[in-house]
Amino acid sequence: MIKSDDTIEVLGARVHNLKNIDVIIPREKLVVITGLSGSGKSSLAFDTIYAEGQRRYIETFASYARQFLGGLERPDVDKIEGLSPVIAIEQKTTNKSPRSTVGTITEIYDFLRLLFARAGEAYSYNTGEKMVSYSDEQIQELIMKDFEGKRINILAPVVRARKGHYRELFEQIAKQGFLKVRIDGEIKDIEPGMRVDRYKTHDIEIVIDRIAVDQEELTLQRIAQSVKVAMNYGDDIIMVLAQDSDNYRYFSRHLMCPTTGISYPKPEPNNFSFNSPKGACDCCNGLGTINQVNLKKIIPDNKLSIKAGGIAPLGDEKKSWIFKQMEVIAERYKFSLNDPISKIPEEAMEIILNGGNESFSVVSKVAGITKNYKIDFEGIVNFIKNQFEESESASIKRWAKEFMDEITCPECGGSRLKKEALYFKIGEKNIGELIQMDIETLINWFKELPEQLSSKQSSIANEILKEINTRLSFLSDVGLTYLSLNRSSRTLSGGEAQRIRLATQIGSQLVGVLYILDEPSIGLHQRDNERLIKSLESLRDIGNSVLVVEHDKDMIERADYVIDIGPKAGKNGGKIISTGTPAELLKEDTLTAQYLNGKMKIEVPKHRREGNGNFLKLVGATGNNLKNVSIEIPLGTLTCVTGVSGSGKSTLVNGTLYPILNTHFFNAVAKPQPYKSIEGIEHIDKVICIDQSPIGRTPRSNPATYTDVFSDIRSLFAQTPEAAIRGYKPGRFSFNVKGGRCDTCEGSGVRTIEMGFLPDVYVECETCQGKRFNRETLEIRYKGKSISDILNMTIQEAVKFFENIPKIYRKIKTIDDVGLGYLTLGQQSTTLSGGEAQRIKLASELSKKDTGNTFYILDEPTTGLHFEDIRVLMDVITKLVEKGNTILIIEHNLDVIKLADYIIDVGYEGGSKGGKIVACGTPEEIVKNKKSYTAQFLKAELKN
Ligand code: ADP
Ligand code: ADP
Ligand code: ZN
Ligand code: ZN
Repeated sequence: MIKSDDTIEVLGARVHNLKNIDVIIPREKLVVITGLSGSGKSSLAFDTIYAEGQRRYIETFASYARQFLGGLERPDVDKIEGLSPVIAIEQKTTNKSPRSTVGTITEIYDFLRLLFARAGEAYSYNTGEKMVSYSDEQIQELIMKDFEGKRINILAPVVRARKGHYRELFEQIAKQGFLKVRIDGEIKDIEPGMRVDRYKTHDIEIVIDRIAVDQEELTLQRIAQSVKVAMNYGDDIIMVLAQDSDNYRYFSRHLMCPTTGISYPKPEPNNFSFNSPKGACDCCNGLGTINQVNLKKIIPDNKLSIKAGGIAPLGDEKKSWIFKQMEVIAERYKFSLNDPISKIPEEAMEIILNGGNESFSVVSKVAGITKNYKIDFEGIVNFIKNQFEESESASIKRWAKEFMDEITCPECGGSRLKKEALYFKIGEKNIGELIQMDIETLINWFKELPEQLSSKQSSIANEILKEINTRLSFLSDVGLTYLSLNRSSRTLSGGEAQRIRLATQIGSQLVGVLYILDEPSIGLHQRDNERLIKSLESLRDIGNSVLVVEHDKDMIERADYVIDIGPKAGKNGGKIISTGTPAELLKEDTLTAQYLNGKMKIEVPKHRREGNGNFLKLVGATGNNLKNVSIEIPLGTLTCVTGVSGSGKSTLVNGTLYPILNTHFFNAVAKPQPYKSIEGIEHIDKVICIDQSPIGRTPRSNPATYTDVFSDIRSLFAQTPEAAIRGYKPGRFSFNVKGGRCDTCEGSGVRTIEMGFLPDVYVECETCQGKRFNRETLEIRYKGKSISDILNMTIQEAVKFFENIPKIYRKIKTIDDVGLGYLTLGQQSTTLSGGEAQRIKLASELSKKDTGNTFYILDEPTTGLHFEDIRVLMDVITKLVEKGNTILIIEHNLDVIKLADYIIDVGYEGGSKGGKIVACGTPEEIVKNKKSYTAQFLKAELKN
């Protein structure tokens, strides 16, 4: 038995479906919690242990702070002992800010900024020369030497290349006692009322002193004095001009271009930060991208007329000021708002899009009356731009954004930084170039850097370089070598974001922490699994407890201790069915054990489907890292796209193919990544992407509403004799409209409490006790059950209950078939996991009358799924294929890959070394390929 101070003990946990369980978790070990999807793993790991850890953490705040944070509710658990501080490393990409990048979240960018500020060498953006900076003494010496024997002017630059008449400036200069100024290269006496052309740009210097340079002590003193004064007026920059020639030089206390005199401030880390006004590019404010109106989105089809809604932002004709303007423009340019847009004269379109001002009159033919008109229109393009930039309303901004494209900022080329920042270099590279490299290239670059540094640079940079290198190597350990530091965190997949957080945690070197992770193997190719497991082990080895919710076989086998939750999901789960070392687990007879010891397995199919003879061909895809890739997908098959992380699978499928099909079938606006052509679209009749995004974001959506079975159930209730007598229509039984629902909670059954910067909390409505309907509605019963009772039934119960109502039965049965029988019909979609949401979508597809020609796209559908869940899922998918549909899956899981009829393997590596097709063919053909990583792992799988 484990000693109790080496353990975390959870006693009497009852959160969600947990059945009052006790669990002992060894400390400073790698512990895996496994079990079917919905068995209660997250309820234990996140909703019990992590939640209690968070609560205790907040308790330690002073009551003053707690008042803002709010107390957190205690999870439903009797006691947790031995709990250390808990950090959850989740997959949610919580940071949606466009200012957060891989570099900023890992802190590597902060060290890079420090490196460039301390050890960077500045170059002039005018001439490319190395910038120089001098002390006042050095400047005096240089003047004495370079201008010996000459008469010089010492000048203080006060205006550089700016417009204005500068009358006050001249007055002030005169008041200070100076007599001469140099204006645009010409020295003049200052006269009362002096001014210059206000519409031209000017260079103005004050003449501080004129001296003949010789080696006398007195001259030296005078030069020193004048340099000091000139520095004061010139803001640390002076200009020295030989009197008899055009020979001049700038001197600066700061970094300065020796030829043109531009100067940079002494660099601080903030000058390299795109989140600081000091460093951010002025054009894009440090975002690296700007939004530009896309004319194609404004006029998607120029065969339509303006009246028929041809100008998308205006919509169909209505009585509005803008449509009146359109009439006037039509009057002036002699066209009709019923003409297709392609027929409208160019000048008229120019005004419609970009605006114009014009008055004109028309003499009516009939009565001879003259009518005056005025065009005064800002143009649709400007209108959209203004709405996007200036509107206070988020929804209007979103609306305007639909007509815009995000493009790379033309000023900074996406580096997000001011020009000056990019002229600081280390080893001949600027910070913008470094953050664009993928991490593998960057690691190699830093390896070679020390040889290129001067000894002074090395001594400053050594410590900083160490920090950068260790952090980069952690990123490499978790398999993310293909990312670049400037990659915006918004665009990361859940798995990538989680592994970055993991790398950051390893970098932080904390000890005594309990880390909880949710399926870190998501999105990772089998090849990189080993390194991921090693990273988790190293977190453990420095003295942390690591608790991982995971289904991956390798991870389970490498754990120190495994906790298996089950036996099934939902109400039929929530118990601990086995605990122990992996070796002990294998001897048990749980589902997990059986899949691990080979008693149960997903069989390799005997035959591969040939498809229906048609193909969908995508030619010449070049998005992100794709190297002119072409693929052929056999229709009527199950096709898998495989390859190591970062090889380009998502770019190919989600970034290119899906938007092409989606635009074709549904007129979607999302622009596909670049490609040459697509062939064979005529052989399919729609595309559906089944992802893990929530089926609804409010407590009002649930499995019954999503699959639409709830409308059938409401009609059924309206047909009961009692409802007929009272005249209740189906709407009475909806919680979304007034009438039958509870008025207090407006049918949601819960009250929302906003928690400041914590997520909203929902508490049960006091009026209806969470039943969502009012008393009268609840009095209507079908076979003894109220509408609320129905919503609280599990799908399994409902299948029995509605056995005799075919329409309802069929829909509910398909949800049961995808393994979700344990959910209740009314379970709020906000409580469903990604995997559960995905299977609801599949079920809803299955229950539809299908055309048999649909193209389905799924991205890692095995996320969150146990071996057994995968078997069920693949049965469902097989059914869809057998009806004639095509399924395209991006997947790493070998249990799925081995079922494919056709595999498209992308690689060879991630990032710049990827983006090619390594191999295509049936699994049997693929395994013959010597270069494919997927083949290496698939081989073993096919032998079984
Ligand atoms: P796992 O992590 O093993 O997939 P979960 O712990 O997420 O399973 O879920 C266990 C059960 O609890 C499931 O039936 C799930 O639908 C249910 N559940 C999860 N979250 C909530 C919630 N917030 N409210 C009610 N039920 C929930
Ligand atoms: P996979 O799906 O195989 O993991 P991806 O298609 O996500 O690969 O990535 C392929 C390459 O494209 C990688 O180098 C990745 O960093 C890059 N990439 C992917 N998405 C983006 C994006 N939104 N912005 C910039 N680069 C991206
Ligand atoms: Zn910019
Ligand atoms: Zn209520």
